[in-house]
Amino acid sequence: MYQYIDGARTRGTSAETGRIVDPSTGTVRAEPALAGPADVDRAVGAARRAFPEWAGATPAERSGALARAAELLSARAEELAAAETAETGKPIRLSREFDVPGSIDNVAFFSGAARQLEGRASAEYSAGHTSSVRREPIGVVGAIAPWNYPLQMAVWKTMPALAAGNTVVLKPAEITPTTSLALAEALGEAGVPPGVVNVVTGTGPSAGAALVGHQDVEMVSFTGSTAVGQRVMAQAARTGPKRTHLELGGKAPFVVFDDADLTAAVHGAVAGSLINGGQDCTAATRAIVHRSCYDAFVSGVADLYRSVRIGPPAEEATDLGSLVSFAHRERVAGMVERARGYARIVTGGEAPGGEFARGAYYLPTLVVDAPADSEIVREEVFGPVLTVQPFDTDEEALRLAGDTPYGLAASVWTRDVYRAAHATRRIAAGCVWVNDHIPIVSEMPHGGYRRSGFGKDMSGYALEEYTNVKHVMQDLTGQGAKSWHRTVFSH
Ligand code: NAD
Repeated sequence: MYQYIDGARTRGTSAETGRIVDPSTGTVRAEPALAGPADVDRAVGAARRAFPEWAGATPAERSGALARAAELLSARAEELAAAETAETGKPIRLSREFDVPGSIDNVAFFSGAARQLEGRASAEYSAGHTSSVRREPIGVVGAIAPWNYPLQMAVWKTMPALAAGNTVVLKPAEITPTTSLALAEALGEAGVPPGVVNVVTGTGPSAGAALVGHQDVEMVSFTGSTAVGQRVMAQAARTGPKRTHLELGGKAPFVVFDDADLTAAVHGAVAGSLINGGQDCTAATRAIVHRSCYDAFVSGVADLYRSVRIGPPAEEATDLGSLVSFAHRERVAGMVERARGYARIVTGGEAPGGEFARGAYYLPTLVVDAPADSEIVREEVFGPVLTVQPFDTDEEALRLAGDTPYGLAASVWTRDVYRAAHATRRIAAGCVWVNDHIPIVSEMPHGGYRRSGFGKDMSGYALEEYTNVKHVMQDLTGQGAKSWHRTVFSH
């Protein structure tokens, strides 16, 4: 395990040693030397030096390099999927069919988008002047990613930045660095010049904080928890101010109206809450279900939860692998234990025993009768845990849906187009699905409202996030004494 700085592998120079663990077995896979502030400084220096050339490359040149990187990543897809599964405990089917192809598609999308960047204006808004708008890269972007979808998050953070002509220093979560390093190397092999993309693998308080606070970092793009996002924004303000882009936590409501296809809703809730072991910022976490179908929904989800095949993540038949770490499982289990004091656990609520006892597994857990203001309903659990709340009127359902500080994603389940249209307009979230929950596409934006942050990943909106808007105004008259000068001096 290494750092990737200025186009070369190097060793981290901090005094800290990391531990890369397979969370499904507890086996230590590597104990790398981690990056600290000195490595971050070298990486930012390399990115700064590389900026003028990369910013000056034509869109076609940048696009070509990203397209070649997408091909190189495709050729390594199986290796990337295996690494992702080994470091996170996620089922290999998810890595193979979602994480890796989704990431490659995103690289390919931004290869195309690199050639689509355009300003909006070019006209004579004032007599005697032509105005135009340029979208220009910002400079060195410090990108910080979480552990839940390591490759996908690395791609979401770096691709729009690179496509727009910025250079990047990426800090992945220190427990899941492998695929971020593979991404940077693929970009290098594809012809992205040294220094344009660098990866420092270190802890948040050390390498992360050094990156956010570095004077030569012009923008910080962060994906992670709301609590750390607050700290990142405060530090970016103190050491800048510099632009921040924050993709934070979520607590997605899943609203089932009385006319919904109940079988579809039950399947959707199980898939939407258990994807990636529930460690997904858009996961379905709060089912809000009309009282007329509440009992059938709860028993349908409980039955399917009990039928989910827990197993070794690398096995094709496994539906649910382990959580990402033992520490994270303790956090999830702690929230469920506290919920026992005020709610009812219908199924799950514990770690499986036997052969699974040595891994960070946790059973799919269904919680009912929890008050709307309780921790399990309001706070992000980030595990395979779903709460269910009943409602009587549409108004009450929409009020409950909005009753958390978050606003990342939501879904509504109904056959009534007017009900769907009303709900999608009313719910304050960056994405609202109708009769589905989870699918994403590179062409569409992803990002939050309220405490889920601001700024968009994916899509053309993301490309614009990584640009400065410049107004260029050019005199057309050629006159020394312009007519407007008389407002300042008169002769
Ligand atoms: P986290 O906030 O603990 O860490 C995220 C990253 O920030 C890691 O790389 C970490 O090392 C770094 N970090 C920690 N302290 C830092 C500091 N002081 N300065 C700079 N960097 C620091 O989050 P996590 O536990 O890795 O990931 C789970 C969280 O991420 C959840 O809250 C989830 O909802 C969120 N998430 C959001 C999205 C989204 O698009 N909105 C996507 C994925 C995950």
